[in-house]
Amino acid sequence: MTAKDIITIPNPMLRERSQRIGHVDAEIRELAESMIKAAVDWENGREHEFSAALAAVQVAQPYRVIVVRDDFENKANNTFSVYINPEIVKAEGEPEEELEGCLSVTDIYGSVLRYPKVKIKALNLDGQAIRLTAHGFLARVFQHEIDHTNGMVFVDRIDDPKKLFRLGEDGQFTGLPAEEAKIALTRG
Ligand SMILES: [Zn+2]
Repeated sequence: MTAKDIITIPNPMLRERSQRIGHVDAEIRELAESMIKAAVDWENGREHEFSAALAAVQVAQPYRVIVVRDDFENKANNTFSVYINPEIVKAEGEPEEELEGCLSVTDIYGSVLRYPKVKIKALNLDGQAIRLTAHGFLARVFQHEIDHTNGMVFVDRIDDPKKLFRLGEDGQFTGLPAEEAKIALTRG
C-alpha cells in the first residue's frame, strides 16, 4: 500500500465502527505490514509532518488494527508496533488540549482534549494479550487511533472552529477561514 490508499474525510467509512479480529492470522499480519508501508509513504510526501500512527479503517479496511510508531522523535526510525482490538481500560488525569493532526484530514490540525495517561489492552501480532500504560503524546495517539476504530475522527471532538488550523507549505499554522472550518467540522 501507498499514501494513495489512505482515505480522507468526508469518506463515510471513516465514521463506521471497525470489526473486532477473532483470530490473528497471516492476512492480518499482511494488513499491518501494508498499513506501515502506507504510513511511511505518506510521511515521505509530507515535508513538515510525520506519521505517528494509522488505523486500518484509514486504508478502507474496517478492522480493529492500529499501527503506532515506536519512536516519535526520530523520523529516520520507521518501525511501528501493531495493536489488535485495542481498548482503553482506564483513562487518568485531567484532560489536556493539544494540536492534533490525522492522515485522513489533509492539512488541517485541531486542538483536542485527551487524557494524559491511558491503560491499554490489545492483542499483539502473535495473538497474545498485552497490556501497557501510555503517557503524554503516546497516550494521545492511542486515544486518537482507538477513536478511529470506533468511527470517530479528531474533528468530531471539536465544536469550536477557532480550534482548527491549516498547516501551510511553510510549516506554519494559520487560522482556518470560517467556510473551510465549517466543511472540516461537517460530520460524515
Ligand atoms: Zn487519524
